[in-house]
Amino acid sequence: MECFLTQMPTIPLFALPSGLEITACSQQEGSLCVSLLSTQPASHCPLCSSAAMRIHSRYQRKLADLPSSGQPVRFLLTVRKFFCDVPTCPRKIFTERLVPFVAPWARVTARLFQVVQIIGLAAGGRLGVRVTDRMGIQTCRTTILRRIMALPTEPVGQVSQIGIDDFSFRRGRKFGTIVVDLQTRHMLDVLPDRTADTSAAWMTAHPEIELVSRDRGGDYAAATRKALPGATQTADRFHVLKNLSEALEGVLARHLAAHRKRQTEPARASSVLASQTQEPPKLLSKNVALSQAKRE
Ligand SMILES: [Zn+2]
Repeated sequence: MECFLTQMPTIPLFALPSGLEITACSQQEGSLCVSLLSTQPASHCPLCSSAAMRIHSRYQRKLADLPSSGQPVRFLLTVRKFFCDVPTCPRKIFTERLVPFVAPWARVTARLFQVVQIIGLAAGGRLGVRVTDRMGIQTCRTTILRRIMALPTEPVGQVSQIGIDDFSFRRGRKFGTIVVDLQTRHMLDVLPDRTADTSAAWMTAHPEIELVSRDRGGDYAAATRKALPGATQTADRFHVLKNLSEALEGVLARHLAAHRKRQTEPARASSVLASQTQEPPKLLSKNVALSQAKRE
């Protein structure tokens, strides 16, 4: 381990918040390791918010920070636990908070968290890893995706016409529900499952909805009847076309079967005598005949 803390001011280089002091810098296995000490004279109890100064103990946290010139940076942060001396407070001992520099229990600084999030939003998981590798940020595709998922979603405002349908989280295995604003064509929400209760709970929060476009299954229809009894229900375009094509297929199959029957009857009548001496032809079952007619 090579220690190279010199007279050079290092705090501006790392842009640390006040109350944190650098005690050592070293290089270990290709990373820059920086030891930090929290020197705030007091910390506020997370429950009662009163300032506490009596130190209970110290411990160390390891944190990853933004890289420096392509070199990963690791912080070894010594933080303290304090006694809360307010008699009525149920929390007797607490760990000092260093928000917004680092969230409680986080293993990365807030600024590294945000940079990975921004890269993920711009490039996605797989490409994002290629960018972070070049920058000296040690992360992986799933972490980048988790950072994106941690972003708060915008609240759903007033909406009058929605489309609701199944959404596959894992194809054929795990399904949720997607809700779309039919006027803006924007996705409004993704619900964790496709049960009527979950959909009804979502709709109950939006009594202003006037029209629900849904599939032909019963769950979304039941949810709409329960939560929005005054709303108009309609099958969505995909399911209307599916209904139409299935109905048309049945009609054509029946007409074709009738047409074939009319064509074959005269020929059959003329060959009755001839066939009496031969083996009778195999009769097709109704389903097989219908299937053959559909194919034709
Ligand atoms: Zn307290």
